[in-house]
Amino acid sequence: ALFPALAAVADGTSGDVRHRPALCFGDRELTYGALASAAGATAERIAGAGRVAVWATPTLETAVGVVAALLAGVPAVPLNPRTGERELAHIAGDSAPRLVLAGPDDELPPALAGLERIDVRVAGAGDEPVGGGGGLPAEPGPEAPALIVYTSGTTGPPKGAVLPRRAIAATLDALADAWAWTGDDVLVHALPLFHVHGLILGVLGPLRRGGSVRHLGRFSAEGVGRELGAGGTMLFGVPTMYHRLAEAVGGDRELTRSLAGARLLVSGSAALPVHDHERLFAATGRRVVERYGMTETLMNTSVRVAGEPCPGSVGLPLPGVELRLVEEDGTEITDLDGETVGEIQVRGPNLFTGYLNRPDATAAAFDGDWFRTGDMAVRAPDGQVRIVGRKATDLIKSGGYKIGAGEIENALLEHPQVREAAVTGEPDDDLGERVVAWVVPADPAGPPSGDELADHVAAQLAPHKRPRTVRFLDALPRNDMGKIMKRALHG
Ligand code: ATP
Ligand code: MG
Repeated sequence: ALFPALAAVADGTSGDVRHRPALCFGDRELTYGALASAAGATAERIAGAGRVAVWATPTLETAVGVVAALLAGVPAVPLNPRTGERELAHIAGDSAPRLVLAGPDDELPPALAGLERIDVRVAGAGDEPVGGGGGLPAEPGPEAPALIVYTSGTTGPPKGAVLPRRAIAATLDALADAWAWTGDDVLVHALPLFHVHGLILGVLGPLRRGGSVRHLGRFSAEGVGRELGAGGTMLFGVPTMYHRLAEAVGGDRELTRSLAGARLLVSGSAALPVHDHERLFAATGRRVVERYGMTETLMNTSVRVAGEPCPGSVGLPLPGVELRLVEEDGTEITDLDGETVGEIQVRGPNLFTGYLNRPDATAAAFDGDWFRTGDMAVRAPDGQVRIVGRKATDLIKSGGYKIGAGEIENALLEHPQVREAAVTGEPDDDLGERVVAWVVPADPAGPPSGDELADHVAAQLAPHKRPRTVRFLDALPRNDMGKIMKRALHG
């Protein structure tokens, strides 16, 4: 079963499990018994529906709705409630659900008006088992589609990745192995629930282990400190959250103590700037563990809990995941020298089965059974993977060099007058491409000079990595996961 603890509740063999906390959002908490009841009731209403959309607000109803769909064997499409009408209409049309699951208080936008609405009810669900799972079909096989998750849309319009049950189980079990993740862990969660990170890792992960989730509703450094101080053992976050924690630790003793006492702090979805990693380490003595994954492949690599601290590295391939680096001409890099840049390709049980309605995009994404991630990396002799950036936006070909945007961004962020930084390439008659830095100054009233920042980069790295242009902004364009939307920088 995808959720052994829920299966045990349903068939009456759970013992104490049904009294254990499963999901907690604010002051609303469901035990495994109450979750089995609430999700079982919704599952019975949607069984046989074909496909359901889930209006994925950061609420208990969303988590219960997704679990219900998984229990019913009905593929679920989580929808980002902040998506604009046009993109929402595209996703609804593309994924063609018949029903939409929502919380009783949610207002649904016109783009979803054609769908039959089912309200997920959790209030009043008693701590009782769902009487043998009566109206539910048998659990579908491992290749059955479980979730259709749309990519973040960082590099183009979002594509629907079809994720079979097998991929979800494989990735969660590999992470459990790498992180020594057990049913005793209490995850502190502040991510949205419509992507892999917040939904599959953050909600389905603890439920598969029989552990629990405490969701903050929305991120705050103070909330993270409070929950980690009150029994939370793990934190999953995106780099923008760790940046805010790094800013906050200096003046907040309680937060510092809570972070220092956590069993595991994990960052993913985008590169964690080395500067923030080091600041958090200096203040708390804790190393944030970085993992690397994507919607199509779920998780590929992670730094091991017991492994060496290595800021800037995303660690080793997870158990069961095969990973190779491939040069532009298609040759595999076999000499792991820590310098030769290649595209990351992966294969394993963690992979999706394809993009919904996009056989062209699916075919283009594979080289045989290897998935082309579009991410570029180097590998050290011990196998550690260091991501250089995305092939499409982060690899700048300038004057015969291939320059990774990430290390220049890291160098800029070390400058005391820089708050945020992004680096892109722009066409250049002479160099092919020229390095351009986009900088949010720490003090908007007194930004540093572009020359000073460019000199700082050249002194830290190498002269050919010196930004030729430095542009100042009030904020970088970011999506809901806090990822920098580089394609919006050039207008
Ligand atoms: P789209 O595919 O629609 O352009 P997206 O690639 O941002 O959007 P996701 O599948 O959510 O959508 O994100 C996966 C990508 O996030 C990876 O391909 C990689 O570029 C980046 N990423 C994830 N984790 C890390 C990490 N630890 N370090 C660096 N990059 C990461
Ligand atoms: Mg992508």
